[in-house]
Amino acid sequence: MVIEQQRADVFDGAALRADFPVFDRPHRSGKPLAFLDSAASAPKPRAVIDALSDAYGHHYANVHRGIYELSEDATARFEGARAAVARFIGAPSEREVVFVRNATEAINLVAYSWGRTNIRAGDLILSTEMEHHANLVPWQQLATETGATLEYVAITDDGRLDLDDLRRRLAREPKLLAINHVSNALGTINPVAEITQLAHDAGALVLLDAAQSVPHMPVSATELGIDFLALSGHKMLGPSGIGALWGRRALLEAMPPFMTGGSMISKVTLAGTTWAEVPLKFEAGTPAIAEAAGLAAAIGYLEGIGMAKVRAHERFLFERAWAALSDIGGVRLLGPASPDEHAAVISLVIDGIHPHDVATIFDGHGVAVRAGHHCAQPVMARYDLPATTRASFYVYNDLDDIERLTDAIHATQRLFGTA
Ligand code: PMP
Repeated sequence: MVIEQQRADVFDGAALRADFPVFDRPHRSGKPLAFLDSAASAPKPRAVIDALSDAYGHHYANVHRGIYELSEDATARFEGARAAVARFIGAPSEREVVFVRNATEAINLVAYSWGRTNIRAGDLILSTEMEHHANLVPWQQLATETGATLEYVAITDDGRLDLDDLRRRLAREPKLLAINHVSNALGTINPVAEITQLAHDAGALVLLDAAQSVPHMPVSATELGIDFLALSGHKMLGPSGIGALWGRRALLEAMPPFMTGGSMISKVTLAGTTWAEVPLKFEAGTPAIAEAAGLAAAIGYLEGIGMAKVRAHERFLFERAWAALSDIGGVRLLGPASPDEHAAVISLVIDGIHPHDVATIFDGHGVAVRAGHHCAQPVMARYDLPATTRASFYVYNDLDDIERLTDAIHATQRLFGTA
């Protein structure tokens, strides 16, 4: 199959691959790597790897502690990374950005700290049927411990959030709506500004799991109007081990610490302790210092491209991939068909072939995809599937990767005699 040339207004993903050393690595298939698993974790550009190395090599000391030049340098860089995150997600102030390990920890922080303080027996918490387990299990735990009720907004057959069901449930005045911006299992982009307006009108706060949106599209916490936002560095070309929680200052200030110990205190006596100001109140212990520098470099790299361009590039790839995959008999695609409502994450089922077999055979063709439940087992249950095969795209992908993907599907179907 020959796919027509890349559109002129979309950048050349293949050229960008030169920035990512992992693409120099020989693959056992003998073919170049078609990496289509960025939704799980993204490769790192040299700029990020160099920033990590430079931070460890030349700027490393503990932060917020030492009264000497090296520590001041490390602290300034760490706080500079915080400011970069704030800028990148449209947060009003970097004082509202808390460094955590990942989106999972960000959500747990809110569930433990805000949740245990504000949720009582009989309260209603809303999540949705399309959440990653990271935005589902913490709320189950909170509901179990407090006696609150947890309900899930339904999703439609084509993988949209059912807004009528949302309205019905909001009428019962939940305290919180915990929702993802982009579903990692379906690729659905939720209309978050509209949803947040509805939730706020009903008196609910909104926690946005932005793990799959912040890396791929312009996201502004201020414009969306949300109350909390969770992200992971490793999905946005940054290091693993660092992520961020953004929350409105008044909310963060009213919340008790999540973890306690060093760094997060104002004064400790044997009789008791007072807390540091937000965000340090939530950063107990030595943080991921060099990783923060790596995350700032990832943000710099993405800003260098421009997030509107990243989104346009992925939208283009989504449209082409969706069209090409739709043409293949025996392939079922999940999620909405409209590129306005679907990020460049495509979950698919090949009739008669288990996704684990699909991924294994694809690997033999140098095509890396994810197979499984994608930490979203309720989504699999909703569509009565054990698992799906997921192809997810990022800046370094191009039309050639789509061709590799479709060729791999044809080869798999031929192997299984289902073509
Ligand atoms: N939410 C979504 C939508 C995700 O895709 C993921 C990661 N797959 C997470 C949360 C959790 O991210 P992490 O494992 O980095 O905490």
